[in-house]
Amino acid sequence: MKCSQGEGFSNGELQRFGNIELSPSAGVLNYGQGLFEGLKAYRKEDGNILLFRPEENALRMRLGAERMCMPSPTVEQFVDAVKATVLANKRWIPPAGKGSLYIRPLLMGSGAVLGLAPAPEYTFLIYVSPVGNYFKEGVAPIHLIIEHDLHRATPGGTGGVKTIGNYAAVLKAQSAAKEQGYSDVLYLDCVHKKYLEEVSSCNIFVVKGKVISTPEIKGTILPGITRKSIIDVARSQGFQVEERLVTVDELLDADEVFCTGTAVVVSPVGSITYRGERVLYNKGGVGAVSQQLYSVLTRLQMGLVKDNMNWTVELS
Ligand code: PMP
Repeated sequence: MKCSQGEGFSNGELQRFGNIELSPSAGVLNYGQGLFEGLKAYRKEDGNILLFRPEENALRMRLGAERMCMPSPTVEQFVDAVKATVLANKRWIPPAGKGSLYIRPLLMGSGAVLGLAPAPEYTFLIYVSPVGNYFKEGVAPIHLIIEHDLHRATPGGTGGVKTIGNYAAVLKAQSAAKEQGYSDVLYLDCVHKKYLEEVSSCNIFVVKGKVISTPEIKGTILPGITRKSIIDVARSQGFQVEERLVTVDELLDADEVFCTGTAVVVSPVGSITYRGERVLYNKGGVGAVSQQLYSVLTRLQMGLVKDNMNWTVELS
């Protein structure tokens, strides 16, 4: 789909996957005017397909577009385009329980612009790829390192929207962490350097007894759709959930820690390394709360239980 600045998107068309042409002075290439989304389609036992809360991705893209001075598709256009793309790629969706189809909507300033300004034209496209289950054999813990010098977001910046530049900002710390054998990096706030923000591509939760705490959304953290869903799931399972400032000290003293995101779903954290010290959770294994929330959410996403939350959209 394409549109000019100040106009709405007209409905798009399906095209074979391939390279796209851009002017060297496209807004997205020069000034980072780009946003993306990520969601998954699961195949059910009966062959039908389930999307998980696609309208939430549409709304998040619309909020991001406002911050990035871009027009964006309506919620209806976004969801219809996702459905059409998924149905056209039905054959690539793995069988029930064997993975999912990852869906990547992308909005960019594709028009040419030389001086710093919003691009005159925009392109919205969606591509898909089959992916395996994040955990091949049951849930397994991930290992994080806390980064205190580099930051992914600053107050007043773009950390709260899913713009491409946020991911460029994490590449250095994330590559270094992976080289040292960690799964990913946990970022702190850049002012006090003591409050938790999030991981490069997922949100974080800290469990102490029956209380689950997660950093509140205040512009520097991406409002994850899995985060929002897990808050509701946890409350429905009898936990008290608090969205507030969470300190590193609380994290290191927690009973259990887990991350949430479309890719990682619910990932228990086995250890956190902070200033050279490593803290283990559940002896480096999987905590009961993470396991419980993972099971409830994935069964709902895969259509193995009745969707009382009304979160899934079924396609056939
Ligand atoms: N934080 C960041 C920075 C992310 O990239 C993602 C993945 N979209 C998340 C959190 C989790 O968001 P969601 O649950 O919507 O996938």
